[in-house]
Amino acid sequence: MFATPLPSQVSSTTPDYPASLEEVTTDLPKLAIPPLLGASVADLTAWVQQQGQPSYRGKQLHQWLYQKGVRSLAEISVFPKQWREAAADTPVGRSTIHYQSVAPDGTTKYLLRLADGNIIETVGIPTPKRLTVCVSSQVGCPMACDFCATGKGGYKRNLACHEIVDQVLTVQEDFGQRVSNIVFMGMGEPLLNTDNVLAALRSLNQDVGIGQRSMTVSTVGIRDRIRQFAAHHLQVTLAVSLHGSNQQLREQLIPSARHYPLADLLAECREYVEITGRRVTFEYVLLAGVNDSLKCAVDLANCLRGFQSHVNLIPYNPIKEADYQRPNGKQIEAFVNVLEEKNIAVSVRYSKGLAADAACGQLRASQ
Ligand code: SF4
Repeated sequence: MFATPLPSQVSSTTPDYPASLEEVTTDLPKLAIPPLLGASVADLTAWVQQQGQPSYRGKQLHQWLYQKGVRSLAEISVFPKQWREAAADTPVGRSTIHYQSVAPDGTTKYLLRLADGNIIETVGIPTPKRLTVCVSSQVGCPMACDFCATGKGGYKRNLACHEIVDQVLTVQEDFGQRVSNIVFMGMGEPLLNTDNVLAALRSLNQDVGIGQRSMTVSTVGIRDRIRQFAAHHLQVTLAVSLHGSNQQLREQLIPSARHYPLADLLAECREYVEITGRRVTFEYVLLAGVNDSLKCAVDLANCLRGFQSHVNLIPYNPIKEADYQRPNGKQIEAFVNVLEEKNIAVSVRYSKGLAADAACGQLRASQ
């Protein structure tokens, strides 16, 4: 039995959460001058009709926004000249690239300037078969994790749906190739901005055409939010940042863990597996001398025993503001061996683009 409500019951306590991606709509038609990006073809059709245009213009607008990446309606040559000019100032919702740095392996980190002047970071990570985009969900982050440059920079606001979708289109345009995968692992805690993240997931899936299974939402764990997220029965991967295999370590590294004990977080993750039938990925940043001992590995294996999960170990990328170091290869290997001996599915993910300062929050901190 579940100690907490099943999805159908969850909706009564979370009225703002739609039941599926198809039901996620923007509030575009209610706005006088909306940012258009993030809107579905139905929303865009309603909007062009409000502007006195025939409904088929909605589909044209959708194509020009998501496939051609227009930044102004003035660029849409299939629209009548008079309307094009009249609607030229309608906000589309695109950012500008403020700065970008490219690592030798091609990983590219962008600082994007938003309409209100705020700066966010986005990373494009190319491999022979994929182009992955690491997107931000907030300007800054309120979680203040001790090892994270973003956490040390403070928090300003949630990102709107269009500001999340724009990051993916920007990387796609700059690389000149389609984005295949998206990870919500940039600035911010996505489950503190669930409505906009859900709307962006819908748009990225249905408007941009990226498969749900190719998208990952990463969280340090916000009480009840994982259960609420599960209620949508999405096919996206949920990644939970553990970073510590006991309560004391988690509190040291993630201040918010004080309000959300590890045992409760793991119980909610088990519910997620029960509700969605999908395994959870656990992220664990390896910090030398802090959480990389064999005892920590044993504790981690015990936490996850019998759990449908996968562990991603991420050797730490040092930042100026934190006193942490990356463990050496031998220590990482020993940690992996302990988990494998205990039948925990594990992989080591070396953060790409170290030379481009591409670890969480570092590029912005250095500008
Ligand atoms: S690690 Fe993630 S959740 Fe923690 S402060 Fe950094 S961006 Fe926020």
